[in-house]
Amino acid sequence: MTSVLTLRDVGRTYPGGVTALDAVSLTIGRGELVAIVGPSGSGKSTLLSIMGTLDRPTRGTVELAGQDAGRLRDRRLSALRGRWLGFVFQQFHLTDGMTAVENVSTGLLYAGVPRRRRRAMAETALERVGLAHRVTHRPHELSGGERQRVAIARAIVNEPALLLADEPTGALDTANGRAVLDLFTRLHAEGSTIAIITHDRDIAARLPRQVEMRDGRVVADTVRARS
Ligand code: ADP
Repeated sequence: MTSVLTLRDVGRTYPGGVTALDAVSLTIGRGELVAIVGPSGSGKSTLLSIMGTLDRPTRGTVELAGQDAGRLRDRRLSALRGRWLGFVFQQFHLTDGMTAVENVSTGLLYAGVPRRRRRAMAETALERVGLAHRVTHRPHELSGGERQRVAIARAIVNEPALLLADEPTGALDTANGRAVLDLFTRLHAEGSTIAIITHDRDIAARLPRQVEMRDGRVVADTVRARS
């Protein structure tokens, strides 16, 4: 399997001496849907920042799309991130004054796509997440579940090699959380590679692969038998 992201022996110690990650090695292959699960404080957010090249490890290496992220200066690294990664966060991070389609097209601002094409691509992404009927709605006119789907559309509009989601159902009720998870499952079936960070074992159990974190280490890496 082709690797999209490979971490080798990654450690992250914060100033003051907290070791948030300790010798984490992990490969995410193209087309995988992976849960990264663990209790609060186990290092999940730190791991997501490092996987997303938003933070640099204090030791070990991060390889994204075949490139050693540690060897790149910040500008090259942000270009690599913009091209290869999509991010979804618990709190959606949409801009209130913009419509859904405008929010989604901001995902293309740095990709050098002409304006009119940006809008067409954003509309296609909104269709993929089932929001073709909400294109000109603003965030405050949408439900929490719909807002998260707009955020997911923004994250996939540039067809990233890897979609990273940090507690994407954490701010949603059960029904909307389930719908968002079903959407990730569908995007995965359509070929997307996705890593979802969660503290929720029930969510993790529904995904094909579970990487379990504890005290900054990977303590289990399980592929679920097909049911
Ligand atoms: P999780 O996302 O699983 O809750 P985190 O990655 O946020 O775990 O945290 C892992 C450990 O690193 C915790 O002990 C936390 O207190 C510590 N930590 C996280 N961020 C920082 C920081 N910026 N400075 C110092 N310690 C931090």
